[in-house]
Amino acid sequence: MAANLKKPGEVWVVVEHTGSEAAAVSWELLGVAKKLSAELGTRPAAVIIGDGDHGKTLSEQAFSFGAEAAYVADHPALTPFTAEPHSQALAALARKHNPEVILLGATTKGRDLASAVATDLETGLTADCTELGIDPETKLLRQTRPAFGGNIMATIISPDTRPQMATVRPGVFARPEPVAGASGELIATKPKLAKDQPVRQLQFIPDPEDEASLQGADVIVSGGRGMRQAKNFIMLGELARELGGVVGASRGAVDAGWVSARHQVGQTGQTVRPILYIAVGISGAIQHLTGMQHSDIIVAINNDPDAPIFDIADYGIVGDLFEIVPAMIAEARKRKDGKAAPASKIDTGGGETGGEDFLESEASA
Ligand SMILES: Cc1cc2nc3c(=O)[nH]c(=O)nc-3n(C[C@H](O)[C@H](O)[C@H](O)COP(=O)(O)OP(=O)(O)OC[C@H]3O[C@@H](n4cnc5c(N)ncnc54)[C@H](O)[C@@H]3O)c2cc1C
Repeated sequence: MAANLKKPGEVWVVVEHTGSEAAAVSWELLGVAKKLSAELGTRPAAVIIGDGDHGKTLSEQAFSFGAEAAYVADHPALTPFTAEPHSQALAALARKHNPEVILLGATTKGRDLASAVATDLETGLTADCTELGIDPETKLLRQTRPAFGGNIMATIISPDTRPQMATVRPGVFARPEPVAGASGELIATKPKLAKDQPVRQLQFIPDPEDEASLQGADVIVSGGRGMRQAKNFIMLGELARELGGVVGASRGAVDAGWVSARHQVGQTGQTVRPILYIAVGISGAIQHLTGMQHSDIIVAINNDPDAPIFDIADYGIVGDLFEIVPAMIAEARKRKDGKAAPASKIDTGGGETGGEDFLESEASA
């Protein structure tokens, strides 16, 4: 769509949901939308597409997280989520109300929907933004994201078309505190859609090892190439369990085949924001830091005092992880039980790959 340069439209956040429950990234984006709207002199709005039954509850939640308006698009073809009718509904809303900005989570659904809508509206879309701001002079959305393998941060603008569209990965921005009893304008719409869509969801089978385990975790114990082999991740699982957390990994460990990609933190893995992130045998490449640098407390264990991970760590332990991690497990157990218990036997030999034994430890937690 051509830019309407006279009056800024609203800043929209598409609320991703499973019916009754919204994805946390939607509320994180509403916090950003509020800030961007204030700078543009417009209002933040939530867009809730799907089953009208949940529209009211989700819009009330959206108001509590800062939305001043909520567009609820209701049609039987919109539940469960499939990209085609959702993109038709969102594009129709955008054509009618001319938002300045549309933000979506860089999730499987969000990426699917955003690209379809941007194509339909013939507008620009920047994926996986890590910063969003308004240029004070031009009032354009500044969309910053890693480029060239994460070696530079590129700021992208869409000067000629509207809406300006961006996706942001979960955990990149902090969720605002909800304000109880906040209200806003509810705009109910009935999009015109064909009942028989070409794609139908026959069954939904949830992944038992959903990547959400990293997303919602308060504590993440991540291992890198310094772990040397797959079975040494068992002790990271033990430490994570003692601290009430989950296991993450660098791409180095994933590429070595020691853990599956769903555990990967970083630019091509997940972006996480736990209270405590313990990086074990991870050097601290920029592509890893991108995914965990906003953790509240970062502890790094590395035997190289010059490892870049120490530049962003709140607490750095220089030493051999095969001594330090078992000592941490024993200390955690001692504090919990009032007595020390030995940590799993470790193997510092090199080479062996395969298996995710630490998951057994997680599962038995
Ligand atoms: C486009 C692109 C995308 C990428 N995306 C990601 C991503 O999403 N996530 C990611 O992690 N990486 C990513 N990478 C890879 C990244 O550049 C690094 O190669 C990777 O993070 C290195 O993993 P590592 O720190 O485990 O391994 P290394 O860099 O090899 O570090 C191992 C560390 O272990 C320490 N160590 C060894 N033995 C011990 C011991 N006994 N005790 C204590 N410390 C020890 C060493 O001193 C070293 O610092 C990406 C790269 C590219 C080009």
